[in-house]
Amino acid sequence: MFSTLPETPLDEPFSVNGAYKQDCDPKKVNLGIGVYRTSDGSPWPLRVVEEAERKIYETNDVNRHEYTAISGDPGFLSLAADLVFGFGEEKGVPTSVTELERRRVVSIQTVSGTGANRLGAELLARNVRPGCVWIPDPTWANHYTIWDLAGVPKKRYPYYDATRKTFDFDGTFRTLSTSTNKNDVVILHACAHNPTGADPTKEQWKILAQLCEEKGIIPFFDLAYQGFASGDAKKDAWAIRHFFHNVHQVEFCVAQSFSKNFGLYGQRVGSLHMVLSSTATRDVPEKVLANLCHLVRGEYSMAPRGGAEIVKTVLGNEDLREKWLEDLTTMSERIQNMRHALFNELIRLGTPGDWTHVTNQIGMFTYVGLTESQVHAITERHHVYMLKSGRISISGMNENNVQYVAMAIDDVIRT
Ligand code: PMP
Repeated sequence: MFSTLPETPLDEPFSVNGAYKQDCDPKKVNLGIGVYRTSDGSPWPLRVVEEAERKIYETNDVNRHEYTAISGDPGFLSLAADLVFGFGEEKGVPTSVTELERRRVVSIQTVSGTGANRLGAELLARNVRPGCVWIPDPTWANHYTIWDLAGVPKKRYPYYDATRKTFDFDGTFRTLSTSTNKNDVVILHACAHNPTGADPTKEQWKILAQLCEEKGIIPFFDLAYQGFASGDAKKDAWAIRHFFHNVHQVEFCVAQSFSKNFGLYGQRVGSLHMVLSSTATRDVPEKVLANLCHLVRGEYSMAPRGGAEIVKTVLGNEDLREKWLEDLTTMSERIQNMRHALFNELIRLGTPGDWTHVTNQIGMFTYVGLTESQVHAITERHHVYMLKSGRISISGMNENNVQYVAMAIDDVIRT
């Protein structure tokens, strides 16, 4: 029976990581996997996460291993939604307005960002039956798997202008305005696009929001790097908040991950937010939640509670929240410093090409600009690991290896 199973493709980031681990060369550098590393190359449990863990442990709550609910922990979910949509953040907004806004968002706890993407795709596939999903080219490769499993036909829109090394607004706008149909889904990276690190400007987001409204297409925001990209959680949620406040007829999804911004990769903490139109009737939120719960119950009953407890403890406490923002700054500044260090080294070496994109692009990744054969060469000759698209995870570099990485890039570019 099992011998007839089909071959499946390997997941590239995890297989590059596996190859790196097996390499015994002391000079090896891992720029493949999207995880934060400190300046000595180690993982970093956030200081605030450790403090929250101690706090949780000390309370010794007998309920701590009990089931939560199919929809997850309500305290966690409301803080998670506040973080995305900024409810109650602006001073002077009457509570009644905030309450009305909150009612437009139906949230459910998920198995991190991947689970949120998957659950949202499944709900749309079963109930809205979109003609297709428009996926940015390039994107996080798992988008293809997720929508494939949901059985929705996939099409690409041109996301990246390889010549200018920026977001291809003209290509995106042209494709979405001429080729989409009502109820098609469009995947949008809310900030720090993976893999390119190139995002739309605010003006471009405004035009895209209008376009979604005019065409009746369903935005599906993937929010995997809130706060991690710029060090400012509010700034990184700008696009989503703009859609929420300005295109009232558009209903959309937000897949939120806490893997990167809390360093809780293996804990699988996330949520899916379904945003309803401002004219949705009072029964709709309940119906949406019931459908989501039905899918979750049949898949895994409920998302795990440990990591969500940590996020809830931090976001629900003013002092810890401040400390979290400091930890975010620590991570985003180190990444920014490494971008500048790599840029300066390439300039010092006189490496052919324009390297300004290394400092202009944001977030964890840069599309450094190597061809597939150059990527092959840099791994073979120099033991520097990255994805074959030339995507590098910036925090894999530090003061001790950035010169080596620049030298290796310089070598494969010239030969
Ligand atoms: N979306 C994007 C764009 C990502 O880069 C990632 C992490 N690599 C995720 C979603 C999901 O990550 P996780 O499941 O760990 O939250």
